[in-house]
Amino acid sequence: MNLTILYRGPLSSCNYACDYCPFAKHTETDAEHATDAAALERFLQWVEAQQGKHTLSVFFTPWGEALVRRRYQKALIRLTNLPHLQKVAIQTNLSCRLDWTDDCDKTKLGLWATYHPAEVSRLDFLTRCNEARTRGVRFSVGVVGMKEHLDEIGALCKALPTDTYLWVNAYKRVEDYYSPSELDFLTAIDALFPLNNTRHPSLARACLTGETVFSVDGEGVMRRCHFVKTPIGSLYTDNWESALLPRPCPNETCGCHIGYIHLPELNLYPVFGSGLLERRLPMAQV
Ligand code: SF4
Ligand code: SF4
Repeated sequence: MNLTILYRGPLSSCNYACDYCPFAKHTETDAEHATDAAALERFLQWVEAQQGKHTLSVFFTPWGEALVRRRYQKALIRLTNLPHLQKVAIQTNLSCRLDWTDDCDKTKLGLWATYHPAEVSRLDFLTRCNEARTRGVRFSVGVVGMKEHLDEIGALCKALPTDTYLWVNAYKRVEDYYSPSELDFLTAIDALFPLNNTRHPSLARACLTGETVFSVDGEGVMRRCHFVKTPIGSLYTDNWESALLPRPCPNETCGCHIGYIHLPELNLYPVFGSGLLERRLPMAQV
């Protein structure tokens, strides 16, 4: 089978302090780090054991920042060099060093890089983007569309090379958050902003999660996606494949890129192509 796995282990810490985030500046004990390392190693060994059986893409969506940890850098090196891995992507704030990417198969590596204007200067973030570009790493750049950051988003857009896709995550916790002119402004920056600013009706509709896409936690509990908490199986059992079958979405709506991209009716696989997981549009090749 050709499968996409979203991995989210127990790691829950970050070197940044975004005020809207529960993982801000949270530090973990040595024991918690050891637990996370053991879970990651177990997952990596499972992925390696699938060679000759399945073709896989792996997307790390950590609770916090993983790439400041050497074990996650090594994990990406290890996975991108496996012949049965098609893509290995990760969400990151891009604060980490990037020299380790030289040991990856960069044709398979994708970074979902989020700019946090309250935590890092635009210049420093752009320097990190430039280093990624120079090293031949494929990445998307994105930012949360907070009203107080609109000027900064505009400035970032101007400063980025035109072939770097800048996505804007819509702030949807407040109803009708944006004025018409703000909607126009953000749509001019990210043509797909209206798509993200929508809670897509999904109840009882077909979704590829749970069939060809699934999430797994550090204990191997499989779920169809990050937004439906009901387990569907256990990765570390002999019959894990039996958990995968077509099932309609049980949620009213789906409002996050990592979820709604798998709704066939939105037809977004051809839009993003090989950059689907790291949210990179095909024109944005490095
Ligand atoms: S960079 Fe991401 S994980 Fe870290 S505090 Fe900010 S939002 Fe949270
Ligand atoms: S539509 Fe969204 S919430 Fe529903 S199953 Fe798919 S990814 Fe999950």
